[in-house]
Amino acid sequence: MNLLARLLTRSEHFAKGVLFDCHHCGQCVLSQTGYTQCPMACPRQIRNGPCGGSMDGHCEVYPDRLCVWARIHQRVDKNGTSTPPLLRSADPKLFFTSSYANYFTGKDLLARTPLEYLDLGTNRKQQAPQTASQLERKLRAGTFVFTSEIRSPRGAEPDKVRKQAELLRDHFDALNATAYLNGKPSMPSAIASAQIVKCGVEPICQSVCRDLTKTAFISELITNQINGVHNSLCITGDFYQGEPGVKQVYDMDSSLMIYEARYLREKGVIFFTGDKMKDPPKPFIGGAINPFTTPWNVPIRRLKQKVAAGADFIQTQVILDLATFKEFMRIVHEEGIDNDLFVLAGLPVIISKKAFEMMPGVPGIRVPKHVTERFAQTQDIVQEGIAFAREMIEEVRAIPGISGTHLMLFGIDYKVLPSVVEELREKPTVAEPVCTETE
Ligand code: SF4
Repeated sequence: MNLLARLLTRSEHFAKGVLFDCHHCGQCVLSQTGYTQCPMACPRQIRNGPCGGSMDGHCEVYPDRLCVWARIHQRVDKNGTSTPPLLRSADPKLFFTSSYANYFTGKDLLARTPLEYLDLGTNRKQQAPQTASQLERKLRAGTFVFTSEIRSPRGAEPDKVRKQAELLRDHFDALNATAYLNGKPSMPSAIASAQIVKCGVEPICQSVCRDLTKTAFISELITNQINGVHNSLCITGDFYQGEPGVKQVYDMDSSLMIYEARYLREKGVIFFTGDKMKDPPKPFIGGAINPFTTPWNVPIRRLKQKVAAGADFIQTQVILDLATFKEFMRIVHEEGIDNDLFVLAGLPVIISKKAFEMMPGVPGIRVPKHVTERFAQTQDIVQEGIAFAREMIEEVRAIPGISGTHLMLFGIDYKVLPSVVEELREKPTVAEPVCTETE
């Protein structure tokens, strides 16, 4: 770099650093983000946000700081619900160069130009099934579905996965294979998912932005297709907070991950390379949303972005604050977002006092006072947890726009899960009637 370029770069970094907390990516998107703050100041450095850990406007990783993305949404569309643009990942080749120079030479054009959303049609819930997923068929047929999850073991123990899958098989429509809890190594979700398939139940493979490059993600989709795993949940993943600090990937945020999967399914082309693929994977694509992110319009805008990016279904963060969730769903329904995607309400099954006490520390979970008091007073946490989960299921299934529930266990003994849903599964569905046509 010659002297003039170095001077330009340094003076730009200094001025933008003072004004916008610039992190020197050399491909400035401040004009897309309301000149609020450099999005690269987000510890995850995601180009679309926020992640699900943003609470009360603060950052999951540094709770003493404001969430960059909550601030951006407020600046760009204060109290509005417009669909945000989808920005590409930052190009590492341009880091620590002058964004002014890159702007005038056009080197940063791709990075600062929002992606074109795919034309996926309207009233997408009414469309015929587009994948081999049985979960998709059930949802499109109007069945109120129940999903839950299996924790991948820390070691190479496929028997553990199969044992859980066999126990839950007849009680749930699909099972998430959670993996890398808190960013720690475990059996990969794709491998656990393949074991779940062998037990005759549908898995939902969890693909995590924290751990996957784009190349690894597309490869995971191919692996899943070969193994008969037809549901993919694209999520950000908790920030690894352990010691020593480790590099976390965030090559994409979850909206971009959804876009990559949908682009491949629709066009048979890998978006980020432009390469055509023979026999591309066609997953039923899910995302996650935290309805309790504030201000209220932030999760609505983020949800709209995920729908536009191509999500078919959403599993929500754990719901304990029913009133806030109902308000969130009122807006989702009023805005017609639920015409295009299936919403599965995330509900807790709390069977351990210790696990319950840890809940307020889980990123994105809000525990209301009356729930804390209820569980503090109980003598039988297991029975209380089952009763609470059942009550919550009854409540959420009556909310317009809800297509099912996703049960998350707070405790160890997964054998209680069938008892939560027995009886409830027999009741007639209140999910909205949708197309029953099959391919
Ligand atoms: S809460 Fe998430 S999106 Fe917001 S600044 Fe922190 S890491 Fe980034």
